[in-house]
Amino acid sequence: MPTASGEAGGPSSWGRYPHVVQRALPLAWTSEPLPETDEPLLAYGLGRSYGDVCLNPKGPVLLTRGLRRFLAFDAQTGVLRCEAGCTLGEVAELSLAKGWFPPVVPGTRFVTVGGAVANDVHGKNHHRAGTFGRHIRALELLRGDGTRVVCGPSANTGLFRATVGGLGLTGLITWVEVQLVAVPGPWMEVEAIPFVSLQGFAELAAASDQTHAYTVAWVDGLARGAALGRGVFFRGNHAEGPGPLSPPRTLFSVPLDAPDALLSAPLLRAFNAVYRHWPRGGAQRVSLWKFLHPLDAVENWNRLYGRRGLLQHQSVVPGLEGVTALLSTAAGSGQGSFLTVLKTFADVPSPGLLSFPRPGWTLALDFPSRGEATFALLDRLDDIVRAQGGRLYPAKDARMSADTFRAGFPEWKAFAAHVDARFSSGFWQRIGGEA
Ligand SMILES: Cc1cc2nc3c(=O)[nH]c(=O)nc-3n(C[C@H](O)[C@H](O)[C@H](O)COP(=O)(O)OP(=O)(O)OC[C@H]3O[C@@H](n4cnc5c(N)ncnc54)[C@H](O)[C@@H]3O)c2cc1C
Repeated sequence: MPTASGEAGGPSSWGRYPHVVQRALPLAWTSEPLPETDEPLLAYGLGRSYGDVCLNPKGPVLLTRGLRRFLAFDAQTGVLRCEAGCTLGEVAELSLAKGWFPPVVPGTRFVTVGGAVANDVHGKNHHRAGTFGRHIRALELLRGDGTRVVCGPSANTGLFRATVGGLGLTGLITWVEVQLVAVPGPWMEVEAIPFVSLQGFAELAAASDQTHAYTVAWVDGLARGAALGRGVFFRGNHAEGPGPLSPPRTLFSVPLDAPDALLSAPLLRAFNAVYRHWPRGGAQRVSLWKFLHPLDAVENWNRLYGRRGLLQHQSVVPGLEGVTALLSTAAGSGQGSFLTVLKTFADVPSPGLLSFPRPGWTLALDFPSRGEATFALLDRLDDIVRAQGGRLYPAKDARMSADTFRAGFPEWKAFAAHVDARFSSGFWQRIGGEA
């Protein structure tokens, strides 16, 4: 069974920054009322958000993994209703056997359906499918005053648009009804194509978005000068044939925090080389689990970043110019990004007021926390994103300023009108949402 981030020491987020001593209350039944307390509440799925959208320093989090029953599944139409604590991996396992699959999955299968709604997650197929929220038919929200509101694209639409991508601030999602997509089997045909510049990435992305359902690129986050922007482009389509319906077992688990000394430049270079030397040469048949969730093979890989934690900077900017500036600033700082991922977002509107994707290029950079130097670099990256008219992904953020958030999400005021007074989060307090 997938476990919450940092379960032994209480719930934490995936990046393990900020450090919060987090109290938690488990939920078992969707019919339960909310706990009686004057403190603010917040739902917590599996803590795969990197920063503080899933943390509640002023009160308890409500652990939703106890809500993991499948309520209805129509194998003819692919419509599934499940409790919000089911994971997308569990949904995939159930539905693959009948030829269906979640319409959108992020880079890990260990996320709950409630978490997928509240961050309106995107996947490698954003150019075709948009965000998870586009595929929701209905959901139930338990509000702080005890009322239960069913909302969706054609019912209570204001609350629906605030709840999709609403960072858990509009109440507790108890169940979700989602339209799955038909797939021919558990396989994918995947190609890995090297590119030597961001112009090469742009050309591959433009061509592949027409021919492939899933596209994503790994970029060498350490390259500078003429090598800046080199990487490997991955593109895939679902493929037919019988195969493994269940996800593979994890290869190993990282038991302890890596010592800081391990986070050295040679290790970074070795890490990058793994991708640079990925097998090439035509389409390869791989299980969809391997292609869609490659990092799930190593449990607790976030511990490799040491006890000070990991900070991810994921932004969306219009395109080449902004990504060039972000990459050269990061590489030039001497703090290489361990894992750098680049993908295009298409013009497929998201329903949520705070949904992150917008047309452009989205770049995710991972940094081990090295204190002030890392925070100063991240501030410089924010400045580039703002100058480009872009925005940062709250699910990955632990430190952006209120101004950066408000500039990136102009609909935040319309969103704030729907926030439930009994719910709050570290993120919401930090960006001044309560002011
Ligand atoms: C390896 C890795 C790869 C990732 N790749 C991607 C990616 O490709 N695309 C992407 O979009 N994201 C990606 N993410 C981020 C991840 O998909 C999101 O952070 C997701 O929301 C985490 O789900 P969770 O169940 O762990 O929710 P949590 O992190 O526990 O919570 C996330 C938010 O959802 C709210 N929430 C959770 N359950 C409920 C509920 N029942 N009712 C109301 N609110 C609720 C919480 O309050 C919080 O605000 C990745 C994360 C990791 C670790």
